Amino acid sequence: MSETPTGTSSVVTTDCVVVGGGPAGLMLGLLLARRGVRVTVLEQHADFLRDFRGDTIHPSTQELLHELGLLERFLARPHEDLPQVTMAFSGRRLVLADFTRLPTRRRAIAFMPQWDFLDLLAAAGREHAGYELRMRTAGTALLRDGSRIAGVVADGPVGRVEIRAKLTVLADGRDSALRSAAGMRPVGGPSAIDVLWFRLPRSEGEQIPFMQAGDGALLSIPRGDFFQCAHIVRKGAWDGSAASLEALRRRVAALAPAFHDRMAPLRLDDIRLLSVRIEHLERWHRDGLLAIGDAAHAMSPAGGVGINLAIQDAVAAANALAPQLAHARPTEALLHRIQQRREPPARITQAFQRRLETVLVRLAEPGERVPVPVPLRIVQHLPVVRHVMGRFIGLGLRPEHIDHPAAASRTRAPRR
Ligand SMILES: Cc1cc2nc3c(=O)[nH]c(=O)nc-3n(C[C@H](O)[C@H](O)[C@H](O)COP(=O)(O)OP(=O)(O)OC[C@H]3O[C@@H](n4cnc5c(N)ncnc54)[C@H](O)[C@@H]3O)c2cc1C
Repeated sequence: MSETPTGTSSVVTTDCVVVGGGPAGLMLGLLLARRGVRVTVLEQHADFLRDFRGDTIHPSTQELLHELGLLERFLARPHEDLPQVTMAFSGRRLVLADFTRLPTRRRAIAFMPQWDFLDLLAAAGREHAGYELRMRTAGTALLRDGSRIAGVVADGPVGRVEIRAKLTVLADGRDSALRSAAGMRPVGGPSAIDVLWFRLPRSEGEQIPFMQAGDGALLSIPRGDFFQCAHIVRKGAWDGSAASLEALRRRVAALAPAFHDRMAPLRLDDIRLLSVRIEHLERWHRDGLLAIGDAAHAMSPAGGVGINLAIQDAVAAANALAPQLAHARPTEALLHRIQQRREPPARITQAFQRRLETVLVRLAEPGERVPVPVPLRIVQHLPVVRHVMGRFIGLGLRPEHIDHPAAASRTRAPRR
């Protein structure tokens, strides 16, 4: 990277600028840098400590960490393993997905606060020459060279910087502002649900079923001394009134009696309404620009697979781009091939999420006692279906692999 001051702003030249330090952006930055590509990743926040990121690190992502030689470092961080996705449905324990027969080294979802996972990716990136991560730096505008996107304008602690690059990657999530600046508009019907996000205290080692359903639906993610809880509501149903808080307390206590006393001190200020969207871009690229992760296909939390898909996009993009980027600009045809590879898994997964939401929205209706849906009953009687679900959730539809794995990680996990 070279930096030249020009009047009020300086100019940096690099091979690739990635806007957004979430799972997609940090993974892409690391993968390009380890292949000798100069890459600058911009993250608008000072750290990764945003509590509304999901915490699920899937077996496929852990397999990629193994291929990168990072799995041991990952597992050394505090995490909890989930070998099966279980659910308490009106008090009945159901198994929804089973990861124990996956052809991967790790046969469990690891729950790890996402900031720890992102810290690991950032630290691994910084070990490579040519990698630069600028925190507290927001991409604010696109640079153009005729009709080609030639980089971004960034604002951060060092002031305004023009970052000129052969390729600009938007990994800035579902609210991407630069996507609009590039004239890219996501399409898709609104999601049927929203999520109420709040913390409840957890005693040491306390276990609660990950999902609880009946009159309502509740997810409880263990995060050390607290549970990060997600309560599903019908879109628009939460009005933030004292009455709705009281109703929330009652419903959560009925779903999870162990939480009854913990709900009482909860205040309106402790609850965040997370708006869920399922959208996609019809074209993920422009000349000089590519969108990946939620910027290309905003995922619902249903099934907890968005992080996984964002990572898989990054791997496919790095595999395709790394051989070229160090010496040439990627053509739009190459960018289109990345979209063609990753769009089908993303769209099929979104279709699955919409289907799942039809059940979730019924559960979200107060007072509605939803019987155990037929597909869930079938899953209980046919273990093979649980393993198929484990494959779908744990590996995704087109699991990617690192083109140039680390020397010690060249063998694939034994098949079972
Ligand atoms: C309520 C909710 C819960 C979810 N829970 C889960 C879950 O448990 N498991 C799961 O797999 N998926 C979950 N998802 C989906 C998942 O969060 C996303 O699919 C995933 O985070 C997408 O990763 P990403 O890297 O594409 O984008 P993001 O994670 O959104 O990261 C984008 C990054 O870009 C940064 N940024 C944005 N604009 C700029 C800018 N202009 N300049 C610099 N930086 C910028 C942001 O600060 C952010 O760090 C959930 C989604 C929702 C809505």
